[in-house]
Amino acid sequence: MDNKQSTDHSFPAPSIERVRHELRRRFLTIESVTDITPGMRRIVLKGEDLADFTSLAPDDHIKIIVPGADGAEERRDYTPRRYDNAARRLTIDFALHEAGPITQWAIDARVGTPLEIGGPRGSAVVAGTVNRWLLIGDETALPAIGRRIEESGAETTITTIAAVADPQEQQSFETSATLTMLWVYRPLSDATNAEPLIVALAGIDIVPQTFVWIAAEASVVRAIRSYLTEDRGYPLSWIKASGYWVKGKADTTEKFG
Ligand SMILES: Cc1cc2nc3c(=O)[nH]c(=O)nc-3n(C[C@H](O)[C@H](O)[C@H](O)COP(=O)(O)OP(=O)(O)OC[C@H]3O[C@@H](n4cnc5c(N)ncnc54)[C@H](O)[C@@H]3O)c2cc1C
Repeated sequence: MDNKQSTDHSFPAPSIERVRHELRRRFLTIESVTDITPGMRRIVLKGEDLADFTSLAPDDHIKIIVPGADGAEERRDYTPRRYDNAARRLTIDFALHEAGPITQWAIDARVGTPLEIGGPRGSAVVAGTVNRWLLIGDETALPAIGRRIEESGAETTITTIAAVADPQEQQSFETSATLTMLWVYRPLSDATNAEPLIVALAGIDIVPQTFVWIAAEASVVRAIRSYLTEDRGYPLSWIKASGYWVKGKADTTEKFG
């Protein structure tokens, strides 16, 4: 198949509207801990501080803040997977992997354990009507992918391509959107290999005016972004790509312009 996108891409791309929020720390307590798959731990947090918690975009992030070994704070970015101001609840999904301080905290977490969070500092809202999404990512992207799917209405068409360790890691989501989910499998030790995702991507047409969102290990994101723009001629203005972690480097993320 010739994967060069032959269709006209001259229509304007949606703009990304940045909305600032008051930066606050919130003191919460764990209400429940559930492994939704063997490698994904869902923690529901509760606390009065959530009364005015705001997160406008599915790919927002908060800081999870835990005490580090030397007494200094360790902070990492996590997606507010779901929240309910009235019930004062916030859900976070933690991918379990080679443990840095936050993953270790999630592994040790028990009902009643306290947790401090910061933010979100702001939301990057894709403005205008985007009715088609292509969401590509690894385990760390699934919380944002799941939230986007669940928050989308019947007018929206979403395709996802997610890389996980094995079929047990597949998740399902409730939505009224038209949803196609493609799963590719690779061991966690191979999470820096972009090939399985690119092979899956090569098999699909990307309809013009599809907003492509990518989040995974940074080198994987870079490879997919290059494949889309260089091999497929897909316009950069219709792509948002973020390196959610960097292999071998603690507390590191990468933004792609
Ligand atoms: C905007 C944003 C939202 C995110 N949302 C989520 C989320 O909702 N859920 C989630 O699980 N993660 C999410 N992440 C990724 C998460 O912040 C990182 O995986 C983070 O590094 C984990 O912190 P840690 O303390 O466990 O490890 P660190 O101390 O940061 O790193 C320790 C070691 O673990 C490695 N490592 C880090 N992450 C992974 C991984 N995923 N797989 C394998 N090795 C890894 C590092 O390369 C390093 O060698 C998000 C990241 C961003 C930027």
